[in-house]
Amino acid sequence: MNSKNRILVIEDDIQIRKLMMTSLKSNGYSVECVSDGNAGIMALTGAKADIVLLDLGLPDMDGVELIRKVREWSQIPIIVVSARSEDEDKIAALDNGADDYLVKPFSVDELMARIRVAQRRILSAEMADETNTVFKNGDLLIDYVARIAYLKDRELSLTPMEYRLLCLLAKNVGKVLTYTFITGQIWGNTLESDVASLRVFMASLRKKIEVDTAHPVYIQTHIGTGYRMLKL
Ligand code: CA
Repeated sequence: MNSKNRILVIEDDIQIRKLMMTSLKSNGYSVECVSDGNAGIMALTGAKADIVLLDLGLPDMDGVELIRKVREWSQIPIIVVSARSEDEDKIAALDNGADDYLVKPFSVDELMARIRVAQRRILSAEMADETNTVFKNGDLLIDYVARIAYLKDRELSLTPMEYRLLCLLAKNVGKVLTYTFITGQIWGNTLESDVASLRVFMASLRKKIEVDTAHPVYIQTHIGTGYRMLKL
């Protein structure tokens, strides 16, 4: 199986580019670096990359604009690596289709961990297809036809709302979903009160699927931003 290890780095800061190049190569990745958005889009049309690491402050365009353009034709995982640390910046990038967001300065270990999450997402997306009626992740199984979820072969007693939430996370496994995206998908709108409700539903869903809710393994919280189901 292809290990999905070709990384495209779109970053105008030469020091960070060098750091990424060195650390990625020493971890066995093949790396291509470009220093602006248009060169990044050109490289992506060549389809020679599996994962993109994207800076937001680029000389010729904003990274969010690049994400929007690329998402018109590609679902390649995009991990934003940016000095912008505000929730609004993260949300704008994620809502426009980024998979993940890492704030500079970052640790190389953390970067590698995020890349592995993206690699697992590609592999699971390749295994699943439109006709898939079952979702499997660790001990979790969702039978979309019967509309039943199982944990370790034990049927979970989920409310309709918990089931919808679980399916939404499962269908986007590996991707950080923002509060507004989730509430928009589930309730069709994004009122402040919906985010509060979402937290309540998420807490009750977690009690049913996580062995230890203080250390969740299936659903990660991204504080101020949203949630992600990890591919185990
Ligand atoms: Ca920059």
